[in-house]
Amino acid sequence: MIPHYPAFMGALSSLPLPATADLTDLRRQVRDWRQAGETIGCVPTMGALHEGHLSLVKTAKENADRVIASIFVNPTQFAPGEDFDAYPRTLDTDAAKLATAGCDLLYAPVASDMYPDGFSTQLTLEGPALGLETDFRPHFFGGVAIVVAKLFNRIQPDLAVFGEKDYQQLRVIQSMVRDLDLPIEIIPGPTLRERDGLALSSRNAYLSTSERGQAAQLFLALSGFADDLAKGVDWETAQGKALAKAANTFDRVDYIEARCASTLAPLPAGPVKQPARVLAAVWLGKTRLIDNLPVG
Ligand code: AMP
Repeated sequence: MIPHYPAFMGALSSLPLPATADLTDLRRQVRDWRQAGETIGCVPTMGALHEGHLSLVKTAKENADRVIASIFVNPTQFAPGEDFDAYPRTLDTDAAKLATAGCDLLYAPVASDMYPDGFSTQLTLEGPALGLETDFRPHFFGGVAIVVAKLFNRIQPDLAVFGEKDYQQLRVIQSMVRDLDLPIEIIPGPTLRERDGLALSSRNAYLSTSERGQAAQLFLALSGFADDLAKGVDWETAQGKALAKAANTFDRVDYIEARCASTLAPLPAGPVKQPARVLAAVWLGKTRLIDNLPVG
């Protein structure tokens, strides 16, 4: 085990698991584990960890000898005016949770190290990145892809676990790994939910009490949509019904759509005859919620 990295503003040295912000430290630890014949799994996160994130750590631990979780609130996936500054930062409690979940190392780089002056590379994404989130957050997957590619290059894991909660993101990462020949297995983790169906999310902390009461309607709208499709209702009719339901509850509906489950391409007209996924993004006040479900 590497010692706690001592020079990172004091913050990482007092955490209950080995933690570093330093790329040299990270690489030294990865090299030592590899020399000992151990495999490495990674779980990229932005922190404010909940049971959903921890389930990914546990899955990584079941599939690799060592698990590295990263916490990095990635500025390039936020547009000006989005919640980058407000995004919850809870490093101490996150570290305690990671330690309990069996994480071996927390990697928490700083933005100036990830994006030094003169950083000038972007990735152009097509296929599963088209539409849905991209229609409303056009900067988003470019930022995600760059940060994940950098984390993969830095950690060089054998596998990485990503949540189905962010289904389009999962598909974009799977495509990127395949297209760029990265030797990393991507393992999907199921979405963990509250008792009423609301998907766990770091952004749920923004919800007021009354908004929290309404938030589970997203799960209900998506469940109804998926059920209708499974019953053979054509997707245009089913989508109209789901949209009307969502529009009644939410302050704004960015999208509620059915797509091909593997490519995320739009579906042919009529009843759904292939594996499909329903996906949505809605607003309650200043909080944007996203969720998705399989059909059938
Ligand atoms: P985040 O830090 O929230 O951007 O997400 C880090 C990872 O956790 C991503 O792979 C997410 O898909 C995953 N994740 C977020 N919420 C959940 C959830 N409720 N259940 C399972 N995984 C999740």
